[in-house]
Amino acid sequence: MRRKLAAGNWKMNGTGASLAEAEALAKAKPEPGCDLLLCPPATLVHRMAQALDGSAVAVGGQDCHAKASGAHTGDTSAEMLRDAGASHVILGHSERRADHGESDSDVRAKTEAALSEGLIAVVCLGETLDEREAGKTLEVIGTQLEGSVPDGVSGATLVIAYEPVWAIGTGKVPTLEQIGEVHDFIRARLEARFGAETGSAVRILYGGSVKPGNAAEIFGVSNVDGALVGGASLKAGDFIGIIDALEAAA
Ligand code: PEP
Repeated sequence: MRRKLAAGNWKMNGTGASLAEAEALAKAKPEPGCDLLLCPPATLVHRMAQALDGSAVAVGGQDCHAKASGAHTGDTSAEMLRDAGASHVILGHSERRADHGESDSDVRAKTEAALSEGLIAVVCLGETLDEREAGKTLEVIGTQLEGSVPDGVSGATLVIAYEPVWAIGTGKVPTLEQIGEVHDFIRARLEARFGAETGSAVRILYGGSVKPGNAAEIFGVSNVDGALVGGASLKAGDFIGIIDALEAAA
């Protein structure tokens, strides 16, 4: 059985004052029925990891560089994230693919760097609205999956997040059938590439406008093992509502 995962992506939001939300979450969920992860901006990773030390909430980064160190002004290495207290890192988020031109091979190199530092990689995939309307969703997801995920992964080191670009931060959510189709496709591709045991152990999260009000129905879809949550992870109360729904589905 795959343990469900609720992951929060704070994006470029939050200062020291926001750590109160993370602490409220940890206090409300001392023994959650699923894994919990918060990915704050890089400036908060160390402080959040210290604040949540000993709690059930893990801390992750939102990106890392593919190289271990060197002349890369403004970037953060996987080792630095781990040193700051992160156990996970989000890679290939559509905002990074769009804003920073990250290709599948960039994401793959970053994922290799993360895995070599012992971080759990949360690799994001997702089609644009144009791609969906052109009937290319599965082709795009298949290409991203193949290109972004390196060999040698396992259910313990890799999490996939399916995040339709057009659903992120928009309030628009695919139908349950559309979510199920893509999650089943990703599962089949993982099993074909990595074998049934590994392919069935990797968790596949849905992301894109998940809220307390729509979480339960999304978590009822086959091969949805949790959520990657943006806006609704910023406030402990909203995120707890989503976690409650995930625990009920577990
Ligand atoms: C995200 O940033 O990964 C995301 C899914 O955002 P939101 O939940 O705000 O749509």
